[in-house]
Amino acid sequence: MQPLLNVDTALADILADMKTLPAETVSLPEAHNRVIAEDIVSPIDLPPFDNSAMDGYAIHFEDSVDADRANPANLSVAMDILAGSAPEGRLELGQAARIMTGAPIPAGATAVIPVEDTDDDWSKGEDSPLPAEVRLYRSLSCGENIRRAGENIEAGATVMAAGAVIGPAEIGMLAGIGCPRVEVIRQPKVVILSSGDELVDIYDELTPGKIRDTNGYTLAGLVRGAGGIPIRLPIAKDTLESIRALYRRALEINPDLLISSAGVSVGAADLVKTVMNELGDIDFWRINMRPGKPLAYGTIQGVPFFGLPGNPVSTMVTFEVLVKPALAKIAGRPFKQQTVKAITAGPMKSDGRRSYNRVILSQEHGRIMARTTGIQSSGALMSMVKADGLAIIPEGITEAPAGSELNVILLRKPDW
Ligand code: AMP
Ligand code: MG
Repeated sequence: MQPLLNVDTALADILADMKTLPAETVSLPEAHNRVIAEDIVSPIDLPPFDNSAMDGYAIHFEDSVDADRANPANLSVAMDILAGSAPEGRLELGQAARIMTGAPIPAGATAVIPVEDTDDDWSKGEDSPLPAEVRLYRSLSCGENIRRAGENIEAGATVMAAGAVIGPAEIGMLAGIGCPRVEVIRQPKVVILSSGDELVDIYDELTPGKIRDTNGYTLAGLVRGAGGIPIRLPIAKDTLESIRALYRRALEINPDLLISSAGVSVGAADLVKTVMNELGDIDFWRINMRPGKPLAYGTIQGVPFFGLPGNPVSTMVTFEVLVKPALAKIAGRPFKQQTVKAITAGPMKSDGRRSYNRVILSQEHGRIMARTTGIQSSGALMSMVKADGLAIIPEGITEAPAGSELNVILLRKPDW
């Protein structure tokens, strides 16, 4: 029997093999949540021109010195500047320009006084006539309420560096600098393979002895969550011909990654291993982890391949620990496993392999507590539905007593 392989060694070997995909050009709306493949430098100042941060009056700030309600400064209104217009001429001392938020500051003006600090009344909305004069009820400093050209970003400055994910703020900035198309890392096409005579699909009748394929669906969700495009194929039967046909079909899709579940444990599942070895260069690993000991890893016609164990929790945990970081590297995504330290509320058992126990987290008296989700069978997918995280009991330990501090991989953001 092969010795059990350390989880970290397995992951390091896997990561060393993964290559990041090349870039493709997409339109800006399609770029959301994708990984940018180029440094983006702004060609322009944003905002492109000095503009008003308020609805009010643009003035020379010197004209407001010592103004207050008892002693207002009186200016003649010389211009009316709406957002989107381009004011001509210069504002002279003693003059004010009615101005809207986002409208360009006229030449000469050095501050904007909000309408609330004047005697003007805009309660009539758009129909408010332009007054001949305006009284200022306070003094302003130079530059007050003016948004300077380039204060958001200056021409030549970096908006985002290659390798970052394009979120809503980034896509807004790319729109702002006029970037209709961007280079992004191609999304990995991931084919998901299920096989087993006991498996039926969700629309099929559940006759005696059958269960529904759940791994096909959980894996598709996990792949999508990791930035890949999942492609789920029909379930193969436990015959060499059926499994061969499934793998051939998978390869015709030109995938970037193949993930199967089941057929890698010792026993009758040898058929899947046979086909894997026929078509590819596959290592069978026994990994020192629980759940998820048996795992096949290698390449089939140059495509990286993971043969995950079939038990639904084992499938998910091995994906989380070994496939997710690999997929992130293929997708060029920044990746760091999110963990917290938590205190066990009760004793937790292990068999000495590195164990990933499903736990519910809570915050009590400033400490994060971890409670088991209950039954930890690798077939009980509800343990993953309930779990906030996977508490790691290190290898070599068979029981973590209540009060132990464990690292917990976060499966979702806790709601505290
Ligand atoms: P195997 O590796 O084929 O012996 O499968 C191990 C366990 O996982 C068995 O209980 C299977 O019924 C179960 N299993 C295998 N594939 C799936 C699947 N796609 N969805 C749900 N359970 C599965
Ligand atoms: Mg099977």
